[in-house]
Amino acid sequence: MKKIQMVDLQTQYQHIKSEIDKGIEEVIASAAFIKGPKVAAFQGHLEEYTGAKHVIAVGNGTDALQIALMALGLQPGDEVITPTFTFIATAEVVALLGLTPVVVDVEWDTMNMSVESIRKAITPKTKAIVPVHLFGQCADMEAIMAIAREHNLFVVEDACQAIGAKYTFRDGTTKQAGTIGHIGCTSFFPSKNLGCYGDGGAIFTNDDELAEKMKAVANHGCFVRYHHDFVGVNSRLDSIQAAVLDAKLPHLDAYIASRQRAAAYYDKAFANNAHILTPGHHKASTHVYHQYTLRLIGVDRDAVREELAARGIPAMIYYPIPLHLQKAYQDPRYVPGDFPVAEKLAACVLSLPMHTELDDEQLEYITRNVLDIVK
Ligand SMILES: *Cc1c(COP(=O)(O)O)cnc(C)c1O
Repeated sequence: MKKIQMVDLQTQYQHIKSEIDKGIEEVIASAAFIKGPKVAAFQGHLEEYTGAKHVIAVGNGTDALQIALMALGLQPGDEVITPTFTFIATAEVVALLGLTPVVVDVEWDTMNMSVESIRKAITPKTKAIVPVHLFGQCADMEAIMAIAREHNLFVVEDACQAIGAKYTFRDGTTKQAGTIGHIGCTSFFPSKNLGCYGDGGAIFTNDDELAEKMKAVANHGCFVRYHHDFVGVNSRLDSIQAAVLDAKLPHLDAYIASRQRAAAYYDKAFANNAHILTPGHHKASTHVYHQYTLRLIGVDRDAVREELAARGIPAMIYYPIPLHLQKAYQDPRYVPGDFPVAEKLAACVLSLPMHTELDDEQLEYITRNVLDIVK
């Protein structure tokens, strides 16, 4: 059996080596390393794929979030609502910009931000909501957009884990993760569903004005070269990474299908185990399984993880500490117990190997051993 990894980028590369190598060689031959034609081509192809009117490639997913928030013209002290059970980047960029992160609880089944909690968190200072499409499934965007319209708030989607996920509204329209709010952000970190071979990210918007503003923010605050209208940042996708991504994008649907196939295998294997809850589904969203995350009930999660490791099966805890309990984000407004669902999830989640190259032999070995340990 092939060694089991959380993510197997080596085998994935072997299948498309000639396409990737050709793209990288073209960039080196052209020496157009920064803002070259490969970046423009990839942005165009990603616009076609996602349906976003504008795709702006940037340095990484965290930068994408920061640039998005910088473009909205928010003022120090303005509040931005984000889930407490997620990766740190969303709250981090809010805090860095002098805005106030306001965290809310999540749903037990989907692990995405709770619409009820958002309603309770809104104050006159609230200016934006940053939903995170956690583990590859969209948050309840129909409800979130309705709240945003009602309270005149911006919505910046953190679609770093959910590129290609589709959300269907009650009227039957379907949109991709990251193209529903005013702005969407994604990451091309190597292990993400569309990953490059280094750092990368992108911003999506359908709004022409916001697109121009965000391009300027990412380019030192310039609309015209060497004319700096405001304080910006320097954030761009390099051409070699764009070449890698442009070679991988045509395979993204097949990659998503491989992840969904592995998830279906896991779902079926664990369906009848009282200690294992498989990922819950929101009826409006597809799931692209950036992670396949179990909730383990009535067993010692950390001991399960250790025993799996001893049998050659890596498993990860995403995420062990909710944002409101992180040292850097300690805030007298929050105490342990404030967000009970997030705290319970942090104590019981376990993510299994999930990538595009899992074969039946590996899936059989993983599921058989999980069921042997958790009983
Ligand atoms: C990966 C990730 C980010 C940050 O992306 P980087 O490219 O690593 O900066 C932000 N939010 C979420 C939810 C992520 O998974």
